[in-house]
Amino acid sequence: MHANIDWLKSRVELSPNREAVIDAENKDSWSYKELHERVGKLADFFISNGVQKGDRVALLSLNHISYLDFIFACMKTGAIFVPLNWRLSDDELSYVINDCEPKLIGVASVFEEKLNGYMAETIVVINNNEYVEELTITKPAYNVELNESDPLAMIYTGGTTGRPKGVVLSHRSILWNALNTIVSWNLSDEDVTLTCLPMFHTGGINVYTLPLLLIGGKVVISSSFEPEKAIEDLLYHKCTVVLFVPTMYHMIIQTRKFQESSFPNMKLFVSGGAPCPHKIYDAFREKGLAFKEGYGLTEAGPNNFFISHEETAERVGSVGKPMLFNDIKIMKEDGSKALPNEVGELWIRGYHSFEYYWNRKDETDHTMKEGWIHTGDLAKQDEDGYVYIVGRKKDMIITGGENVYPLEIEHWLESNNDIVEAAVVGLPDEKWGEVVTAFVVTKVPLSEEDLKDYCNQKLTRYKVPKKFHLIDELPKTHVGKINKALLKEKAMEDST
Ligand code: ATP
Repeated sequence: MHANIDWLKSRVELSPNREAVIDAENKDSWSYKELHERVGKLADFFISNGVQKGDRVALLSLNHISYLDFIFACMKTGAIFVPLNWRLSDDELSYVINDCEPKLIGVASVFEEKLNGYMAETIVVINNNEYVEELTITKPAYNVELNESDPLAMIYTGGTTGRPKGVVLSHRSILWNALNTIVSWNLSDEDVTLTCLPMFHTGGINVYTLPLLLIGGKVVISSSFEPEKAIEDLLYHKCTVVLFVPTMYHMIIQTRKFQESSFPNMKLFVSGGAPCPHKIYDAFREKGLAFKEGYGLTEAGPNNFFISHEETAERVGSVGKPMLFNDIKIMKEDGSKALPNEVGELWIRGYHSFEYYWNRKDETDHTMKEGWIHTGDLAKQDEDGYVYIVGRKKDMIITGGENVYPLEIEHWLESNNDIVEAAVVGLPDEKWGEVVTAFVVTKVPLSEEDLKDYCNQKLTRYKVPKKFHLIDELPKTHVGKINKALLKEKAMEDST
């Protein structure tokens, strides 16, 4: 089916002079018309440099207006937008670039050296907001025939469980995620978001940024995250909705500025990307602010569920019910559907699904079966249909034949005011199969006995960690998730 793929063009006709994007650093701003003009020029530049439908166009930059120039220029020309994670090591970055083989790369001047000699046919160095003006155009963009299922972007996963995978998202999946978000989360053209989360990650692009540009809202782009500054930006730009990952929330709630601010314009704070400690919910609830936990993955959406502020208060930890156009199932190992409150793997189906993993047919077949994405995450649904994420399937611990879900233990440990953060892993053990092991960051000195006693107050005996490691900081991945593989390695080294 052919559809109107270039929706920015239609958006401009509806609201040309509305403010679309603001640069949080220097307060430059662009209306929809101005954004569309930039995109048109960049698309012409792509075509002038031989970029064709299906070619990859990569971008290595901090959060910047260029992300929007590039993705919308890909929407016009049929190229595949590949945002590159600037936090990757040289080796990881070269793996990703060699995997996606871009025809053209946009690179922020601060990262030029990181390209490390990798040559795409065309390299565009971005050294200011108006870099588009300086591009030499020889041929205007042609009217390329595009279908909904043609790829629009390839976003690499966080690499929490191995090498990052290039997730190919079609025009359809990005559009449907945006439409579904607008309808299910009730967004309007009055909404304003702050995009602090890296735009090389699906969270920075697809949670609020593109949905708000589709509905005619406003996006404030910030190139870095610093908690006080983020709060100032939220207040200054009268933001109404925002996404941060738990690590960022953790830093925000500790600031004096958070305690002092009432956030009169904020309709909703969303946490996503990793389990959210309940302390963070409490900090927002105490201030009467709407806060919810979202769940998503690059391969699906990432927006999948919705829960209102009132419901969150009654069901702490739930991500809510599936959004309007998403189907979910929770499936047990034996192939049957889980009953209410039984844990199983979360499967998701919807128009927002990815197409395939780039260069990884086996992984695609393993993850996507008959239209269902097997998320690799464990979840349960209560009698009323509210979903709770229980953790990654790979992280589940089997000790003495019992299944242990680390998140339950982590949430309990983190409910202790003397504990900053906790991570629980299973270590191989001859007698038990695996033993439950906890890594804990504390505010005050606590002994192994104190920690065991605290766990015994709430947890069944087999869930109580047999060993506690007190550490200064939990190792995190490039997108701020706890790096459990590294913790396991460390614990095994310590025990040998
Ligand atoms: P990789 O697939 O390369 O190992 P990744 O899983 O971190 O990396 P992403 O797509 O960035 O890739 O993250 C999606 C994952 O993040 C989900 O599958 C889930 O495990 C985790 N996640 C997201 N939101 C939540 C949440 N609210 N609670 C618990 N886990 C979450």
